[in-house]
Amino acid sequence: MIIVLKPHITAAQEKAVTREIRKLGYQPHIMRGVEHVVIGAIGDERTHQSLEVLATWPQVERVMPVQKRFKLVSREAHPRNSEVRVGKNVVLGGPRFHVMAGPCSVESEKQLLTTAEAVAKAGATVLRGGAFKPRTSPYEFQGLGLKGLKLLAKARQETGLPVITELLSEAHAEMVAEYADVLQIGTRNAQNFQLLIAAARTGKPVLLKRGMSMRIEEWLLAGEYILANENPNLLFCERGIRTFETYTRNTLDLGAIPIIKQESHSPIVIDPSQGAGRADLVAAMCKGAVAMGADALLIEVHPNPTEAWSDGAQQLSLDHFAQLMQELRPFIAAAGRT
Ligand code: PEP
Ligand code: MN
Repeated sequence: MIIVLKPHITAAQEKAVTREIRKLGYQPHIMRGVEHVVIGAIGDERTHQSLEVLATWPQVERVMPVQKRFKLVSREAHPRNSEVRVGKNVVLGGPRFHVMAGPCSVESEKQLLTTAEAVAKAGATVLRGGAFKPRTSPYEFQGLGLKGLKLLAKARQETGLPVITELLSEAHAEMVAEYADVLQIGTRNAQNFQLLIAAARTGKPVLLKRGMSMRIEEWLLAGEYILANENPNLLFCERGIRTFETYTRNTLDLGAIPIIKQESHSPIVIDPSQGAGRADLVAAMCKGAVAMGADALLIEVHPNPTEAWSDGAQQLSLDHFAQLMQELRPFIAAAGRT
């Protein structure tokens, strides 16, 4: 920590600060400027009491951290990219680029299997589909629950695609993990820490969506909960944040890709469907995401988007998805991926 003292304080006031720093278990190093005295407090904040309380002292101007608050997700801890295995054959974060696709919600056997077969044929390697849906209104479709999970397992059996589905509640952790290959933590639960711990403890890979009003540091710290609970299989997923813009449902922050790549070793997935909220913008956002270094995409696809039970406006039709997969090829190659 760096502690900046106010100008024109007395020697006794300065001494009181260095005494307190020592008392809290740190070694103070004094740097005397023309006006300000700056104290570097050396010691590990993770194992000692926080020095932030000093900010309340009248002679202290500012207290600033030098250490990052996240450790296990940071690239410093693990300089090479982490690879996350999903199901038997899919490895995210490696040389191969992956597309996860499927409906927003699992609605019926026919809807899911038709979609699963079509997205597999077009080149998707993971099937998405919500069985438990976090809906803003309690009067909207809440998902098929266990029945939806069973349909996902059936679709996996028929197509060979591993499945990703959302975990909404700690109480469902075991059950959802029994059927899913990846647990999705939705934007509304991105800082539900008990849920993150429960997800981590299942041992299944966890895809952590960015909370819609979360700063990147908070998102990294939420990811830290997964790794700190002995689950190294973390995927970050940017899905748009809430801003003043109304042309799109959310503002897809593609700038998060190089930042997550710099700060962390865990793969980053982009969800342009929730990001745009509009099917007509999804392709462009996918191309941008590939070019900026994303490891995978998560795309909503429905056999008949106009009749979807949730998020109809943003889901791609089966044909539109197949066309997008073709259009992505040169972008994937240009990004040095296969
Ligand atoms: C979804 O993937 O359908 C979903 C609800 O995602 P988010 O949590 O990003 O809104
Ligand atoms: Mn959705």
